[in-house]
Amino acid sequence: MSQYDVIVIGSGIGGLVTATQLAAKGIKVLVLESYLIPGGSAGYFEREGYRFDVGASMIFGFGEKGTTNLLTRALSAVNMTMETIPDPVQIHYHLPNKLDLKVHRDYNKFLQELYNRFPEEKKGIKSFYDECWQVFNCLNSMELLSLEEIGYLTRVFFQHPLSCLGLLKYLPLNVGDVARKYIKNPELLKFIDMECYCWSVVPADFTPMINAGMVFSDRHYGGINYPKGGVGKIAEKLAEGLEKIGGEIHYQARVKEIIIKNNQAIGVKLADGNEYFAQKIVSNATRWDTFDKLIEKNKKPKAEIKWQKNYRQSPSFLSLHLGVEAQVLANNPECHHIILEKWNNLEAEQGTIFVSIPTLLDPSLAPNGYHIIHAFSPSSMEYWENLSTQQYEYKKEEAAGYLIQRLEKIFPGLDTGLDYMEIGTPRTHRRFLGRINGTYGPIPAKRLKGLLSMPFNRTAIKNLYCVGDSTFPGQGLNAVAFSGFSCAHRIAVDLGC
Ligand SMILES: Cc1cc2nc3c(=O)[nH]c(=O)nc-3n(C[C@H](O)[C@H](O)[C@H](O)COP(=O)(O)OP(=O)(O)OC[C@H]3O[C@@H](n4cnc5c(N)ncnc54)[C@H](O)[C@@H]3O)c2cc1C
Repeated sequence: MSQYDVIVIGSGIGGLVTATQLAAKGIKVLVLESYLIPGGSAGYFEREGYRFDVGASMIFGFGEKGTTNLLTRALSAVNMTMETIPDPVQIHYHLPNKLDLKVHRDYNKFLQELYNRFPEEKKGIKSFYDECWQVFNCLNSMELLSLEEIGYLTRVFFQHPLSCLGLLKYLPLNVGDVARKYIKNPELLKFIDMECYCWSVVPADFTPMINAGMVFSDRHYGGINYPKGGVGKIAEKLAEGLEKIGGEIHYQARVKEIIIKNNQAIGVKLADGNEYFAQKIVSNATRWDTFDKLIEKNKKPKAEIKWQKNYRQSPSFLSLHLGVEAQVLANNPECHHIILEKWNNLEAEQGTIFVSIPTLLDPSLAPNGYHIIHAFSPSSMEYWENLSTQQYEYKKEEAAGYLIQRLEKIFPGLDTGLDYMEIGTPRTHRRFLGRINGTYGPIPAKRLKGLLSMPFNRTAIKNLYCVGDSTFPGQGLNAVAFSGFSCAHRIAVDLGC
């Protein structure tokens, strides 16, 4: 006997968007979250008057127009809204050879910065970024739902034939293929690599053109908008909206096993021994966690073995959550920075540094006269394994010290202005986010054809669905919201709603 129509394992943004979309259709949903609060990688924690974002802070999807503003839409489906603060500059890049550039919200102002640095490539720059707009305009003209639901595909094709054909053309392409059509300057091509790497964590040749079309255009269209009160508010509001319309969410409810009978998912078993049953089970855990940990080994579908050959786990991060005196940021008004000293280190262990300073947009996240800096750099689990507690603590302090030294070049006085520091490693990300090896998400193990091999929400196990960053279209809050809309749509059709 099913107690629920749908059980969602995990309350990351992917899981919450699925749950809220289903509940809004009158479907009985239960969300089971292993942690104390919702949000996963888009959660938060508080220390000594600071409210830190766990991960995401450069937020797409809060625009007011078009169809790609999926966070705005997800909240509104459960009668919630959020106040957001527009960010005038998406990223301030500090790159090798004094390549210092800002991605302004204003598209032409951004292009002008690039033209000034690469005047001989003016035409190529414009053609490349304009081609990204073509992808975005196709996406932004149609309702974004499940691409594995034939009724929707037929409807959308008749409504927007040109957009659909446009997207089909770009689906198998990577950014590198398109960039090299227009651009020859090696330094500019490196810059395009970094433009991709900073959200896809792979260079342009491995980054799908569909995702780039979204990111490179929406930042100038809907823009980057920071949620007032911190990123954690998004998940809090979705969870609140879910409960208000009759959905349930249980915290400290870690699913240990997905119960499968005759190759059909029928329920879940929690670590505390409780069992819940439903017609459909959705996993918001990564595919590795879902198929290697939550189901019996001999039940792992062949499709998942193939997927694991195509995609590997990206590294996790070394994260510094800092509280600093306000004067440290006197000369740096931008919220997001990317720092790299040598191109060869783009993908290296603790190579590229990402910096986010949300208090420049929302001062309420820190005590008066102080700011938050979240600085993080890719780091893999291997670097942090097989250490005694003492060695681990020492290595953390050492790595933090080195990162602060590098940050000092952009933020002079950082070390002396430090008021608070919390160091996170891949082990921290694994522990608190429940993600295998603390991974940021799947990345291509080899050069793939764009997004063609990224799976949608159904799996080879009947009534088991996946949602979140290891499903189409990948990482990022707006992307996993897309995955949530698709998953809920597919399930609603399968339930006959
Ligand atoms: C440091 C960092 C910076 C980032 N910056 C940005 C950014 O600026 N902009 C952006 O858009 N994106 C950013 N991202 C990426 C973005 O945060 C993620 O892609 C997105 O939040 C993933 O959402 P999700 O729904 O797939 O899963 P997750 O956020 O991983 O959520 C999954 C949830 O499921 C729960 N769970 C897992 N297993 C179980 C189980 N067995 N039982 C019960 N519950 C379980 C987890 O506790 C978690 O709450 C960043 C990520 C990181 C780590």
